[in-house]
Formats: sequence, structure tokens, C-alpha cells
Amino acid sequence: MKPLHIRTPLHQSRDLRPGAGHAFLKLEALQPSGSFKLRGVGKICRDAAEAGAKSIIVPSGGNAGIAAAYSGLALDLPVTVVVPKSTSNEAKQILLSYGAHVKVIGNSFDEACAYASDTASKSDAIFVHPFDDPALWAGHSSLIDEVMDESIEFDCVLTAVGGGGLLLGILEGLANHNLQHIPVFGVETYGADCLSQAIEKNEIVTLDAITSIATSLGSKKIAAPAFSAAKASLVQNLRVTDRQAVDAVSSFLDSHRILVEPACGAVLAAAKVHHKRLEPYQSILVIVCGGAGVSMRLLSKWKRALSAE
Ligand SMILES: *Cc1c(COP(=O)(O)O)cnc(C)c1O
Repeated sequence: MKPLHIRTPLHQSRDLRPGAGHAFLKLEALQPSGSFKLRGVGKICRDAAEAGAKSIIVPSGGNAGIAAAYSGLALDLPVTVVVPKSTSNEAKQILLSYGAHVKVIGNSFDEACAYASDTASKSDAIFVHPFDDPALWAGHSSLIDEVMDESIEFDCVLTAVGGGGLLLGILEGLANHNLQHIPVFGVETYGADCLSQAIEKNEIVTLDAITSIATSLGSKKIAAPAFSAAKASLVQNLRVTDRQAVDAVSSFLDSHRILVEPACGAVLAAAKVHHKRLEPYQSILVIVCGGAGVSMRLLSKWKRALSAE
């Protein structure tokens, strides 16, 4: 069976590095579901379909849910997406448009997640976790395989970090090509910074609340292997503000004509905001993770809210 994700373009960017050096953009925003999530989620759903699974259940108000809904449509498998009450109508509409069943449970992702995993254990539905599952990381790692096929040189990677699934996929991909010495910078927004806070406290922490608008980075807790990778110095953390992330979304739209979520804007912002930290590197691989939770209406709303602060 063919993969559900596509091979995304790799573009060299002129405007992302103010100083010398190169930046290559891996354009995951162009995945049919709008984000890299389709790599891992699509792989799990496809493997499940091949093994005879009859349905899929995923807790997510965001891009993991959309990736699962897209996969279900492609594989002709019913998909239930369990979303917390805070999920926007826009997000629910996208899920419904792919034919997914949307079930609203609980006030937080954790409650939706507990319900979904419990439901799966009592039925024959396949449970897909949005970031904490080795099968998912293996799926995400295909992103690095594709970059290697292009035979470009890069000496560091810049990626967004939510729960750490993308990060772990990248680390796995690098290790598969004997590139584990290449440093990875994990970017978070303040208010959705469970990795940065864990590094500061030298233990995994649970955030009280997510206060950043970059909701796709809004995991209260980092996946344990992602924290271990940071302790082993394979990963360094960077943070940007919501305003910097949203400004980067606008500039990226102007320069590349692609609209991405603030979660992805955070990565694009970090290339400029933290250029001093990145100066030692000749060639940065930037993971443009994308995201479907954005529109011109939302972008203006965020801008208004941030300028009123
Ligand atoms: C899920 C997601 C992230 C964060 O990925 P994790 O695997 O949770 O670290 C970042 N950006 C976008 C657009 C996402 O959908």
C-alpha cells in the first residue's frame, strides 16, 4: 500500500538567515492534511488497515485528528476524533468535512486522551496518540530520509516542539543515517514550553495551563525520550514569544505565499530571533511543520489581540 503522506519539496531560503549561511526549508505545510502529522499518523492507520483494523480513534483538537480523518477517508476506515470542549468550530468543521465522527469530551486534552484510550481498550478500535508513540516517531522519521535523498549538506536542524513526537521522529531519522552528531534545536513558544521548563528544572514537569496561542505546541508534558535526548545534549531548546511567532507567520506568507500556524511561525521566528545561537552553523535544515488551524481571519484576530497587550 502506498504511503498516505507525500514527498514534500525542500527549498533553499534567502530571507530566513540575516547573516551568512544557508537555510533549507522542508515544506511539511504542503502535506495534504496540512502538516507533518500525516507521516506518523498515516503510517499507523495504514499498518492498522493492512492488519485488518475496523476503526481508528484519536484524541486531538488539532492536526493529528485531521491527519487521522484524512487517513480514514483514504483507507475507507471510520475515524473517531475525540476533542476537548475548547476545540474551535473551525477545527471541528475540518474534521467533519473529512467524514470523521467528532466526539467532544472533557475540558482538556488529557481528559479526551484518557477517554479515547479507554474506549479503544474496550473495543477493537486502533488508538493513535498524537505524539507519544514509537510507531508515530518511525513514521515521522521519513522526513529525514527524503532530505537525505536530496543530497544537501546541513549541520543543524530547527524544529518545533509540542509533546516531542516530531522531535523524536527527526532524531530517529538522523540516527538511521548515522547523523546523530547533528544538533537539533527544539523551538517552543513561552506558555507552551514544557521542554524548556523540564530542562530548567532538570525533570519532566506538567504545565498548569497552556497560555500560548500556538495551540499545536500545547502539550502540558514532554514525552520522556525527548527529555532524555535533551539531557544527553542531542537537543537544545529555544523559545520565542507569541508575537514573534505570529509576525513570522505574516512574513512567511509574504515571502513564500504559504500560510502556516503560529506553532510553525515559532520555528521561522527562531531562525531570526536566535541568529546568534545559530551563527556557528553553515546550513540549517528548517522543518516547516505547517498546520491547518489557521486562516486569514484567525491571523488578523491574533494580531489584534497581541497589539492590544
Ligand atoms: C503537532 C504539531 C507540532 C508539535 O509536534 P509534537 O510532535 O507534538 O512535538 C508542531 N506544529 C504543528 C503544526 C503540529 O501539528
